[in-house]
Amino acid sequence: MQDKIQRPLPAFLGQGPKHLFINGRHEPARSGKTFQTINPATGKVLAEVADGGAEDIDLAVRAARRAFEGPWSKWRPAQRQASMLRLADLVDQHYDELAMLDTLDLGNPITRTMANRTRAVALLRYYAGLATSTHGETIQSSAMPHDSLTYTLKEPVGVVGAINPWNGPSGMAIWKLGPVLATGCTLVLKPAEQAPLSPLRLAELCMEAGIPEGVFNVVSGHGEAGAALAEHPGVDKIAFTGSTEVGRKIVRASAGNLKRLSMELGGKSANMVFADANMDLAVPGAAMAVFANSGQVCVAGTRLFVQRPIYDEFMERVADFAKKLRVGDPLDSETQLGPLVSAEQLDRVCGYLQVGMQEGARALTGGARLTEGPLADGFFVPPTVFVDAHDGMRIAREEIFGPVVTALPFDTIEEAIARGNDSEYGLGGGVWTRDLNTAHRVGKGLRTGTVWVNCYNVLDPAVPFGGYKMSGFGRESGNEHIQEYYETKAVMVKLDS
Ligand code: NAP
Ligand code: MG
Repeated sequence: MQDKIQRPLPAFLGQGPKHLFINGRHEPARSGKTFQTINPATGKVLAEVADGGAEDIDLAVRAARRAFEGPWSKWRPAQRQASMLRLADLVDQHYDELAMLDTLDLGNPITRTMANRTRAVALLRYYAGLATSTHGETIQSSAMPHDSLTYTLKEPVGVVGAINPWNGPSGMAIWKLGPVLATGCTLVLKPAEQAPLSPLRLAELCMEAGIPEGVFNVVSGHGEAGAALAEHPGVDKIAFTGSTEVGRKIVRASAGNLKRLSMELGGKSANMVFADANMDLAVPGAAMAVFANSGQVCVAGTRLFVQRPIYDEFMERVADFAKKLRVGDPLDSETQLGPLVSAEQLDRVCGYLQVGMQEGARALTGGARLTEGPLADGFFVPPTVFVDAHDGMRIAREEIFGPVVTALPFDTIEEAIARGNDSEYGLGGGVWTRDLNTAHRVGKGLRTGTVWVNCYNVLDPAVPFGGYKMSGFGRESGNEHIQEYYETKAVMVKLDS
């Protein structure tokens, strides 16, 4: 495919194979192996990347341990905060490059990756604020004399291993890094094999911000590198974002030294449109709740419950909206939907399109990948809107992670909540209504980590995010997030009497 808009490629791409980042330096994998990261819009190789393995993970964990016990442990909160604010400024300054790397590596359209600048910078500034504002407490202990002193200390949990998926490479790396830097922990990050570039570039910016070597290490590689990190006895906590299936493996692998864990996993979120909703907002809202980033979003509102009186009209309008979305070159600023991330993901999504049709669902639009024209070499799938579906179908139960929505009519609010909750997942949910009672009843009734009312997938660094049930445990963002990077020590002081 010929790029319609010629944008200069980031200099980072032109500097030969991309090496691991361990102890402040780029270095090849010990094995000497590399793998290729692909541009999903063209199917062509974007870069050779070091294929880190268990030995590299071990080196990175040791570097992170040395940094954790070294001068970094003496840095005062205000010093860590200052370095994080410098990093936030550098990320802002170099954001075009990070966004471009993500667009090339993952296929998310450039207007969307560029629009994530605000969040990336805000995340770092938010956690920088927490660096100086989180503290222990004093407690009047009844087990001690009246003039005793009991207090708690918040101490960093230690070396953190982060394992990330590919659907938001730079933003997700920053989300993992923020609480680490704020609390004085250190980090070994294993980015996804499909999109390792921007995290490696972010590590360079950390050095430029004056963050000591060994505090942030990046080991690109495959699942084996992630498994080695999850098992490593020198790692104190694993922060994982990815599929529920791999999440389970990590829980098992981490048992050896009882690592602290947080798990941000998959979802099959219910988005509910009531008959009184503002249709002009709900139509694009419900469509983009699924189709943004070609559906490769963990909270995607893939089960679209629509109240029966408006069902037919609403779904026609969603299908019309979907047909008009511009699928194309992710570097073109007119493009609204890019390709899926990989050939593997393309197969998975096309497999589900087949399953949906075999199950008896009907596609109002979409239903197949693009096989002709200038996009045929990339992994492009236009949006699919399935109707004539029911709750028991696989397309209504399993996470597809593609631009596919399954529409389901409902009658009453009680029914909508019960059916919304009839899922092994519990990540996000949405409700579109003008009725305050409906909004609050659904908000309270859904067993999910987030419920959006008349909006969808709004993320804020101050608002906790995470899953119920098989969507995981632990929260990212907000005060609860930072607590997961601390141990709490109680000190009980009895005075000489
Ligand atoms: P994935 O297959 O679970 O992979 C996630 C990460 O785990 C990758 O870095 C992967 O390495 C690594 N990994 C694979 N096997 C491993 C093992 N045995 N031990 C340790 N690490 C291992 O997920 P994905 O396909 O990249 O991403 C899609 C999934 O992520 C979806 O289920 C989506 O819902 C979920 N997700 C959740 C959130 C959230 O916040 N809840 C956000 C985004 C995505 P490789 O890249 O080499 O396979
Ligand atoms: Mg790629």
